[in-house]
Amino acid sequence: MALFQRASKGKGDAGKDALENKHKSESNIGEKMWKKVSQEYRLLEYHACPEYMKDNEFILSYYRVEFSVQQALSSLFKLHNETLNVWTHLLGFLLFLVLTVFTAYELGELPAFSRCIHGLEYNQSEHCILQSMKVDVRNMMAPMLTRTPRWPFFVFMCGSMFCLLASAVCHLLTCHSEQLAVFLMRVDYAGIGTMIATSFYPPIYYVFQCDPFWQMIYLGTISCMGIITLWVLFAPSLQNGKYRPFRALLFMSMGAFGVIPGIHAAMEHWNEPLCGRMLGYEALMAGCYVLGTLIYVARIPERWKPGLFDLAGHSHSVFHILVIAGAYAHYRAALLFLEWRDSKSCT
Ligand SMILES: [Zn+2]
Repeated sequence: MALFQRASKGKGDAGKDALENKHKSESNIGEKMWKKVSQEYRLLEYHACPEYMKDNEFILSYYRVEFSVQQALSSLFKLHNETLNVWTHLLGFLLFLVLTVFTAYELGELPAFSRCIHGLEYNQSEHCILQSMKVDVRNMMAPMLTRTPRWPFFVFMCGSMFCLLASAVCHLLTCHSEQLAVFLMRVDYAGIGTMIATSFYPPIYYVFQCDPFWQMIYLGTISCMGIITLWVLFAPSLQNGKYRPFRALLFMSMGAFGVIPGIHAAMEHWNEPLCGRMLGYEALMAGCYVLGTLIYVARIPERWKPGLFDLAGHSHSVFHILVIAGAYAHYRAALLFLEWRDSKSCT
């Protein structure tokens, strides 16, 4: 029957058919392409997400769900509800990387000959490198003589970079699978624990440098608290939901621990001219962290207008920005602690 119909059609009909077929195949190709694109970059609404992704009911759309690792990595440059969460901490990580290199350079921690590379004539370069080698040898010897150790400062910088990078990776890749999300969430928390613990190193080390007993007690205590926190986060036997308050308590107690050496230090060095500035920076840091946590817990502003802040301006991004501001305030304070200790010997 179909054969008969096709055979009975005239020349004009055949042209029409060809045109129709062409349109059909074009629209099929378009459909296929669209299907491919939408499969590759499919953003879902909150109600369509699996349970483990339903964390904030006030963010209604733009969820990446079960992306392959490659798709998740390429979503770094696409718009979704985690774009700003990833970029805020990725840029924060880059900021701290630049600050670390810059401060190392300023403190003379980088080889001095690296300063000779900026557009100098050959002879001048040669002279510069010879001079710099002398400086490098002197710097290498200095810690053994009088110079204040720099490592506590850089322990804090490394802790901060680890926290910011872990957070950025976590936000970028949790859309892959529940298993990876659970693991990355632990890494993210481990980053927060590491940053809190390492933040204590510069102030405690430099303030109590002339009092090794208290220096050891305080640094030992915060290091043990940090190690216990990491162990609790990763120990398979402690992953049950009933340990969640215990995990929260560990983070809170690490932050609260700072009050004890803080009061001790303020009592001993209240009259120091730099004390006010150091306390100012530390108060700014604490203010940023507390405000960030309150905004994060209260889910402001998306609670007021669900759906409006899906792509930008929701509480988690604000929390991230306040974490960077707090860490930067602590960086400035840590530099002051170092500068103060450099100018003050124990004798
Ligand atoms: Zn985050």
